[in-house]
Amino acid sequence: MADTQAASCQACGAPLTQVSLAHPVDYEYGVEPSEDYRYLRCGRCASEWLDPRPTDAQLPAFYPDNYHAHNDDHGLVAGTLVRLRGWLRGRKYRALLPDRKQGALFDVGAGDCRHFDELQRYADWEFAGIEIQEPVAEMARQRGYDIETGVLENMDMTRHRGRYDVVSMNHVLEHVREPGEVLARCYALLKPGGYLIGQQPTNSTWETVFGDAWAGYHYPRHLQVFSRNGLRTLMQEKGFTDISITAAPHCQTAISMQNAALARGWSLKLDHGRSSIYGLLLLLSLPAEFLAWIAGKSGTIDFIGRRPQQSSAVAG
Ligand SMILES: [Zn+2]
Repeated sequence: MADTQAASCQACGAPLTQVSLAHPVDYEYGVEPSEDYRYLRCGRCASEWLDPRPTDAQLPAFYPDNYHAHNDDHGLVAGTLVRLRGWLRGRKYRALLPDRKQGALFDVGAGDCRHFDELQRYADWEFAGIEIQEPVAEMARQRGYDIETGVLENMDMTRHRGRYDVVSMNHVLEHVREPGEVLARCYALLKPGGYLIGQQPTNSTWETVFGDAWAGYHYPRHLQVFSRNGLRTLMQEKGFTDISITAAPHCQTAISMQNAALARGWSLKLDHGRSSIYGLLLLLSLPAEFLAWIAGKSGTIDFIGRRPQQSSAVAG
């Protein structure tokens, strides 16, 4: 995508934009890209995106070797929440299957696929997916899973088109350069009547009171943060129906608090983007997270969309 297109909204395409964050800072990992990036906000749907758009060649430098996705050690509080999430997802994904017993699932951003073992406890799944990092994808293949290496935008679709009951995409869409193309390809992976399900941050939340310390920016790694309306508009444009966007229980605010403390000059030593007080911040933030979730104002959303039973044109 050429830089000139970045001035129109990545979600709804509106050309009305304003600068929402002129000098973003990576509080978690201290990455300082050579380019001067900023976030723009859409004047119609309020989605935000990184401007100018980074190139494929610039992206790897945004992800340092100690990036948290590579860390297995969650700690007691976070580890418990990870297990709780597995239980919730297992039941939720099963409910999307026609017979609630067996089906095929494609995961975008599959990682080492340990979460497949968890999902398998709730239904008889046939799994496939794509993972950007070759060593991680290789680990998944050694565990017996059918995992492609790369990004969905460039994947050879031949073997996968129209094959899946469920396509899952958790915390991926905010990282990709062409979110519209990725959604179109998710649609193409689905059988008619199949479901796309996923999770991502949204700026339709109280959490933006943290300003540039808001964890949802995750600068420079989040190339866009959609509003609820923006995501719905883009999903509709790509053909999805029965769209549901709901507040997700999550624990992002602990990172916003840690970022805010760092912005105020607290000297916290970070390991994999987490400080020694992260567990404490997590506990402190849980009541606020719970209230925000109940009130429907979480900074993370669950989304579901369906490929219609009678669908004609297939994008991607
Ligand atoms: Zn927009």
